Amino acid sequence: MPAISLVLLLVCGAALPASRAPDDVRLIGKTKYLNNARAVVTHTIDDSTKHVPAAIEAMDKHGIKSTVFVSTEQEPAPEERFFTQLQVWRLWPRLQRAFENGHEIGAHARTHPCQRPDTVEYCSAAYTDGEVSGSRDDILRHTSQPYVWTWCYPCGHCANHELIRKRISAAGYIVARNYPDEANDGHIVPDLQTWATDFFNAAYTQVVQKRGGAATREIVDVGVLNAKFDEVYTNGGIYSFLAHPQWLDFGPDGFYERHLAHVGGRADVWYVPMGPLYAYRTLTEHTQVSPAPAPGGGHARFTVRTTLDTKIYNGSLTLAFDAPPGTTVTSSGRKLAERGDGPTDRWNEEYVRWDEGRLYVTVRPNTTLELQ
Ligand SMILES: [Zn+2]
Repeated sequence: MPAISLVLLLVCGAALPASRAPDDVRLIGKTKYLNNARAVVTHTIDDSTKHVPAAIEAMDKHGIKSTVFVSTEQEPAPEERFFTQLQVWRLWPRLQRAFENGHEIGAHARTHPCQRPDTVEYCSAAYTDGEVSGSRDDILRHTSQPYVWTWCYPCGHCANHELIRKRISAAGYIVARNYPDEANDGHIVPDLQTWATDFFNAAYTQVVQKRGGAATREIVDVGVLNAKFDEVYTNGGIYSFLAHPQWLDFGPDGFYERHLAHVGGRADVWYVPMGPLYAYRTLTEHTQVSPAPAPGGGHARFTVRTTLDTKIYNGSLTLAFDAPPGTTVTSSGRKLAERGDGPTDRWNEEYVRWDEGRLYVTVRPNTTLELQ
């Protein structure tokens, strides 16, 4: 597992304004996770089935934020539907509400093409512009989500072909989730506990679902499922879990909701869908924070700039400061409100938070911060 170290920004020794000693306010750097969360929980669910609303409602009980991958063919003929696939038009209103509540809608092609073996010839023919870009455009047309960040390979197939990964990237997606080696149960615990090295072949920590598809095993023992989360949480990692709603038991006594109850509602965890989580990683790497002279002096001033397209990278990042108690922060002249403790469950809000004497400033880039 590649170790991801805290991204720290080195501040050069530029003099800060005279009436406050330069040492009064010190930029420590960007935090690894938004709002300096200790760990991250991200969830993905697959397929346009009638069980999707029940899964979203279960998540919402426990504050889990997910990426909902849908195959967007509007009205597949009954004989062409897979599993319990619905006409997706029945889901759009629920998906819109989910987006408004902090979830993400991701693309799972239009017709869910997959075939074993997933040869490059098959994949090249199946991954048409209609499947790849068409499903993206369907989501943009039917919801108010401003961008479609995330792709999910149907059946996990075709992710190993560079040609296909390039098509996904060319359509504007920034990350694509796999489902590795289902034929050998490789999809059950890929055990990724941080960001994937290749954003276009991104695994996850584990599945939380009954046996389905080509699988020969399942893990529905809540103690075992929860222990994996505990391991990731203890290590300050990213716990990423996957479910197919058609392979769940709903209700508070079922394994799915008992697991959601265990991982949800934690004040030191960032709950975020997959696309915004990967966007955050890129945004923190491509945002520069620099001290800037303040007119008239008397306070500390920093510019926060990115060259990324903020329509795609529309989230916030968090800067840690050592600052005297009572320091207030404005971003482009607007005072940032102080946020209390509690789970971090949005990716684009702006606020400040104090923790153990340290000031955490969460802002969207392309702004000027003033601390006084
Ligand atoms: Zn699928």
